[in-house]
Amino acid sequence: MEIKAIRGFNDILPDEIGKWQFVEKTAREIFEGFGFSEIRIPILERTELFSRGIGEATDIVEKEMYTFTDRGGNSLTLRPEATASMARAYLEHQMYSFDPVAKLYSMGPMFRYERPQKGRYRQFYQIDAEVFGVGNPMVDAEVIIMLIHFLGRVGLENLELQINTLGCRECRPRYREELKRFFEGKSGQLCEDCQRRLHSNPLRIFDCKVETCKEAIQDAPRVTDFICPDCQKHFDQVKDYLAMSGLAYILNPRLVRGLDYYTRTAFEVVSYSLGAQNAVTGGGRYDNLFQEIGGLDVPGIGFAVGVERLISLLSKEKEFVQHPQLFVAALGEEGYKEAYRVVNLLHLQGIRAELDYERKSLKSQMRRADKLKAHYALILGEEELKKGKVVLRNMENKSQEEIPIDGIVNVLKEKIVSD
Ligand code: ATP
Ligand code: MG
Repeated sequence: MEIKAIRGFNDILPDEIGKWQFVEKTAREIFEGFGFSEIRIPILERTELFSRGIGEATDIVEKEMYTFTDRGGNSLTLRPEATASMARAYLEHQMYSFDPVAKLYSMGPMFRYERPQKGRYRQFYQIDAEVFGVGNPMVDAEVIIMLIHFLGRVGLENLELQINTLGCRECRPRYREELKRFFEGKSGQLCEDCQRRLHSNPLRIFDCKVETCKEAIQDAPRVTDFICPDCQKHFDQVKDYLAMSGLAYILNPRLVRGLDYYTRTAFEVVSYSLGAQNAVTGGGRYDNLFQEIGGLDVPGIGFAVGVERLISLLSKEKEFVQHPQLFVAALGEEGYKEAYRVVNLLHLQGIRAELDYERKSLKSQMRRADKLKAHYALILGEEELKKGKVVLRNMENKSQEEIPIDGIVNVLKEKIVSD
């Protein structure tokens, strides 16, 4: 039987990879310009890092983690997100000892056991950026500005930035109680999961995708009516900084994040072109995470972009597939030898050149050049070679010219690069 990939795990094929490389390259350029450095973290961590960091009463920890016991009897988990690992690394390597402020980004696969569907996979990629060590609202706005700038640079349109505040340890418990009371009165309307959430973590009911639950939240009390003066001040300043930068946003008092560790600022960017799974990216502040994982009291803020969802939004017009810059067609023994020599020299010059390996007819070689969408074709015919000439054909406008074989690599390089 033919072996297939696991459900929810995708191959990213060469004809799509151009988009991935473009997105990753753009992220690197922009984030580094904003003073961020890359960090690479392991794909496996001790299960506790996530159960403590993300919180026991979250969807991820309750039912989405890929957890197993290794041969040494340790409980390990494939990372469902990157923030907890980045925080662990910051503490473990005492990155704060040189400078408490760390601006980090990372990209790679995450694993969650969810029901696979369009825009939702079991292995999916995220691009993460985090700032550790700054509680000032300036940085909340800065991170959001960087995110919006990045999404704009990759060419996304129809986006909406939504922001909210989630309060802190001081004020959220009171809001939680209020929510509990409110939803208890509506418990008949809630799905099974939300019945449970009602006791463990009522804020998460806002995140539920079941219709009756969505109705139940309509008149729920708003967090903004319960936050303490410090959280209010922080939120007002975030809004001021965003406004100063000319960024449009929408206040969404129903916006919560699925992870427990979030405090104060929460944000999401949604796309009206995405359908049901409409969040391209989400993030927020998490001033309790570091203490949850047993570390110092370090504030943090960051976001994670879902790369598959982002890529599904890229412009259909833009060309991402790389075609050969030159196809070298040859005839006869001497022609093939010369073709081989020229192609190798071009490769060393970084020119994407392709040739025929099968000794096909000229017609079929040209068909392949067409199919591969080569920009130019170089034709090494026996007769022409004898005269020290070759034919260069522009595959787009079909014009062709004879050029001398002597010094051909430089001539081609100039033509192709200047094109
Ligand atoms: P959702 O509400 O869609 O489940 P989330 O709140 O679980 O998202 P985060 O944990 O904040 O998402 O992850 C950030 C981003 O990662 C999301 O906005 C989304 O683009 C992407 N993402 C999350 N889960 C998946 C998945 N299973 N498959 C593909 N992308 C995902
Ligand atoms: Mg989720």
